[in-house]
Amino acid sequence: MISVADALKHIFSLASPLPSEPVPISMAAGRVLAEDVVAIRDQPPFAASAMDGYAARAPDVAPGATLKVVGEAPAGRMWTGRIEAGECIRVFTGAPIPDGADHVVIQEDTRRTGDEIEILPTLGDGTNIRPAGGDFRAGDRLTAPRRLTPGDIALAASMNAGILTVARRPVVALLATGNELVAPGETPARDQIVASNTYALKAMFEAEGADVSLLPIARDTAESLHLSVQLAKHADLLVTVGGVSVGDHDLVGDVTENLGMERAFHKVAMRPGKPLMAGRIGKTAMVGLPGNPVSSIVCGMLFVLPLLRAMQGLPKVQMPTVARPLAVDLPANGPRAHYMRASIADDGTVRPFPSQDSSLLSILAEATHLIVRPENDGPRMAGETVETLPLWAGTA
Ligand code: AMP
Ligand code: MG
Repeated sequence: MISVADALKHIFSLASPLPSEPVPISMAAGRVLAEDVVAIRDQPPFAASAMDGYAARAPDVAPGATLKVVGEAPAGRMWTGRIEAGECIRVFTGAPIPDGADHVVIQEDTRRTGDEIEILPTLGDGTNIRPAGGDFRAGDRLTAPRRLTPGDIALAASMNAGILTVARRPVVALLATGNELVAPGETPARDQIVASNTYALKAMFEAEGADVSLLPIARDTAESLHLSVQLAKHADLLVTVGGVSVGDHDLVGDVTENLGMERAFHKVAMRPGKPLMAGRIGKTAMVGLPGNPVSSIVCGMLFVLPLLRAMQGLPKVQMPTVARPLAVDLPANGPRAHYMRASIADDGTVRPFPSQDSSLLSILAEATHLIVRPENDGPRMAGETVETLPLWAGTA
């Protein structure tokens, strides 16, 4: 049995970063940027009016002054003359400031009569001009790697990048195994249950940018598993669920080893989720998750999401945790790291659910966080801080 940190190290060694590909910027949100975006000009490209009003020379701007309106510059149409003393032009937000002008008097601080304005006593302090390059300058960069947020997309667009170079989506094959399973919507026999894990995992992996296909549920026979694993040959990553414990029907390890799987490890000192397995079959990385619903989802979060990130060129780091005060006392933890389903109270404290049975999806659905208890952590008192992992980051 190895520690969670060591298991994650092994998992990172299973896959290298994927190649990059160009995508139109309108399709790039959520993808991982693989090459820096470089601005080719300043933004704004010219000093621009920040308000609707009148552009004038600063020495002429004073309450009670009158100025002659000699032109007009809406956004997108430059007024090419030069403002002389006693003159102004009508400007609108985003319009280039003409030569000579260094102040925009906002419309609300003027009274216009014909082609003259009078500046009112309400005149404010600001010049209401956005300087050229005030947002970014030619040569400034949006650096890779990063998962592109809507804010990044807006900045890249403003830098005039129509096409972004992003990491290819990891192709993931997801395989549920078990004679007892039927797909949701099918009619289970009296001794069957409905497969649930793979649907959660699909959503989680897709939120990380993966291209996920769900393979048909495999039966607990060597033939069925063999066939399914073959179907995943072209995937970057095969994630199996179930069949990795030590029972007579837990054949995933044997079958994948017969297919040439180089096993990196089997069994991690954690709960839920001890029987986790990982390795590589040819070029395909493989993670074998335990079958218990909560175990598979917790292990998917702790091990597969960081792997998907690394495959897309992001740093190889564990899922980030947030320290929060405990709502209740917790007894000492045993030799396995414990990931406890929990929720956050209005006062910001984190409270574990009383039952932590790894088959209970009703509690998982209600939980918003996992409390992380390290191996052999001592007793913790209410008010002490513990590390927490937000659930569904990216999906919710
Ligand atoms: P296993 O690791 O195959 O022994 O599975 C452990 C437990 O998880 C068993 O009760 C299985 O029925 C259940 N299980 C396995 N795979 C799934 C799945 N895809 N969805 C829901 N439950 C599952
Ligand atoms: Mg099974």
